[in-house]
Amino acid sequence: MIEQKINKFFGDAESTGFGTGWWSGILSAFFGFLSFGGVLCLHFPQLLSSPELRPHYPMHTMRVLIQGLIVGAILFGVISSILRKKKILALTGMLLAIAATALGGSSVQINETPHGGLAIGLDWFLLDLFLMALIYVPLERLWPQHPKQGTFRKEWTLDVVYFMSTHLPLQILSFLVLLPATQATKYLGVPVLQEFIARMAWFLQFFLAVVVADVAEYFIHLALHKVPFLWRFHAVHHSSKALDWIAGSRSHFVDDTLVRGFILAPLMLGFSQSIILAYLIFVTLHATWTHCNFGPNAKWLEKFLVMPRYHHWHHTSQKEAIDKNFAIHFPWIDKIFGTYYFPEEWPAQYGLAGEEISPNFLGQTIEPFIGKKKTS
Ligand SMILES: [Zn+2]
Ligand SMILES: [Zn+2]
Repeated sequence: MIEQKINKFFGDAESTGFGTGWWSGILSAFFGFLSFGGVLCLHFPQLLSSPELRPHYPMHTMRVLIQGLIVGAILFGVISSILRKKKILALTGMLLAIAATALGGSSVQINETPHGGLAIGLDWFLLDLFLMALIYVPLERLWPQHPKQGTFRKEWTLDVVYFMSTHLPLQILSFLVLLPATQATKYLGVPVLQEFIARMAWFLQFFLAVVVADVAEYFIHLALHKVPFLWRFHAVHHSSKALDWIAGSRSHFVDDTLVRGFILAPLMLGFSQSIILAYLIFVTLHATWTHCNFGPNAKWLEKFLVMPRYHHWHHTSQKEAIDKNFAIHFPWIDKIFGTYYFPEEWPAQYGLAGEEISPNFLGQTIEPFIGKKKTS
C-alpha cells in the first residue's frame, strides 16, 4: 500500500526527536519537493498553474521563495545526512533541489502567455501545502492540546497521501463542480438577489456568504452521517484516532466533492466571484484550523466561531457526542438545529465508535463503493 511503502522507504527505527536528523531530513525533502514543483510551474504555466491565481502572483517574491527553498533543501540535507544513519530523506531533498536548479531554478523565464482553460493547479497545491505547514506545524508544536501526540504521529503518512491525492485532483474536480454551477448561474441566477447582495459592504457580503455556506454544509454533513450509503464515505474522515492539521485532509473524494458542490451551488446564485474566492481561501484555512492539535482557547470566541475544541467533539467516539456539532464555521447553527454539544473539557478519544474500516488509502478509497466491511 502507498503509505506503507512511503514509511518503509523513508522511515527507520531511530528516534524522530530534535537533533536526530529526522526534522532536517523531512524539511530537506519537503523544501526539495516544493522547489522542484515551483520550477515546473514556471516551465509549464498553462498546464500547471491556476488561471484564477496567475494574475495575482508577485513574481519577484515567488522567485526568491523558490531560490530560498532550493538553498534550504541543500542545507537541511547536509545537516540530516551528517546526523542520521539512513540518508534517504536528505538525499531525496538534495536531489530534488539539484534537479530544480538544473532545470533553470528560480530564473526560468515564462515564455507562454497562459490563457484560461483546464489546469492542474500545482501552484495552489504547493502554496497551500507550504502555507499550511508553515502556519499550523509551529502552532501545534508550541501549544499542543495533546503534547505526546507529536507531529509524526501514527498514520501521519496516510494523511499526507490524502493531502496529496485530494488536493491535486480536487482542483480538477472542483472545476467540474464549478463549471455546471457557473452555467446554472447564467440561467438560474437571481439578478435581483445578486444586485441586492452586491450593494452591501464587502465584509457583510463575506459574512453572509459564510453563513449561507455553513447552513448548506450543515445539511450535507447531516446527510453524510444519517444516510448509511453516504456514511461509508464520510466514515473515512472520522477514522482518525488523533487529530491535527493534516488529519483534516483525510477525506474520501466523494465526500469532498459532495460538500464542495453543496456549498458552492447556493453561493453561485447570489454572490460575486471575488466573495466566493475569498470564501474558498477562508474555508481552507478555517477547516484545517478546526482539526489542529492546539490547546489555547478564547472562551468568548468559541461560542461564536468554531475553534479546534468544538470540531474535536465532532470527531470523538464518545457516545454522548455522536452526531453532534455538524457546523464547520458557526456553533450557533448547531444550536438552532438542536445538534449542539459543547462541555467544558476536551474529548478523551477520537475515531469511529465500534466500527472498523480499512487502515490503508486504497482500501478506504474503494470500500465505500462496494460496501465491504473489511479488506486489507
Ligand atoms: Zn462528520
Ligand atoms: Zn473533521
